[in-house]
Amino acid sequence: APLLSMEGVCKRFDNVVALSGVALDVQRGEVHAVCGENGAGKSTLMKILSGVYVPDEGEIRFDGQPVRITGLQQAQDLGIVMIHQELNLVPHLTVAENIWLGREPRRGWFVDRTRQRDGARACLQRLGVDIDPDTQVSALSIAQQQMVEIAKALSMDARLLIMDEPTSSLGEADAARLLAVVNELKRAGVGIVYISHRLDELAHIVDRVTILRDGQYIATRRWGETSIDEIVSLMVGRELTQQFP
Ligand code: ADP
Ligand code: MG
Ligand code: MG
Repeated sequence: APLLSMEGVCKRFDNVVALSGVALDVQRGEVHAVCGENGAGKSTLMKILSGVYVPDEGEIRFDGQPVRITGLQQAQDLGIVMIHQELNLVPHLTVAENIWLGREPRRGWFVDRTRQRDGARACLQRLGVDIDPDTQVSALSIAQQQMVEIAKALSMDARLLIMDEPTSSLGEADAARLLAVVNELKRAGVGIVYISHRLDELAHIVDRVTILRDGQYIATRRWGETSIDEIVSLMVGRELTQQFP
């Protein structure tokens, strides 16, 4: 069974149909991009997976088991972690404190500063990131904060990571660094749902892409069997006019 599969997912807000009949499946170690224009339903889909919204209809399976994800904690318990566009770190706490923040001592971890620091360092090292766990988060660049968020997800044993436009505020070098980290997670078997408007960067990481338009499921394509032109024409719902002979 895939790590995640969803079928027939619908979500309405009053009169707005945000999602209708949406399907998505993600394998372990797969980066699955979700593409669509503004208002296509991407964020709503991600919020359903991370427990912010409960769908009106549809089935979600995780590890082959039907699940009802009704809250952030429950999503986290399944190993589904979302990295928000607006980062959620606490600026005046250290990197290590942020990585362990808000969690009950579990799996033998106690609120012990040395262990927190070592655990944080281990997660950062796995990502190949050189950040001192004792640094205050406010002293970090946006790119570094993003890496801390990913390290935090790793420390939670994330099995499905949802990334909403993670490179949107990064320069070229930091974006390349982040894509390398995504590839590292992929090798570790983490499933990744990846939302981005930068279609050019998808080539470096993506296995498949699902296209949404106006809340509707349009298509899923294997990356090697499609083109950016085809993805864009599916996103906008019409053939692109040929610009180059
Ligand atoms: P995207 O992330 O692809 O830009 P969204 O999921 O944010 O799309 O939005 C899909 C549709 O649902 C839009 O028409 C949006 O206005 C509507 N929508 C999203 N969230 C809400 C909400 N909380 N209340 C009302 N309408 C919403
Ligand atoms: Mg939007
Ligand atoms: Mg959005």
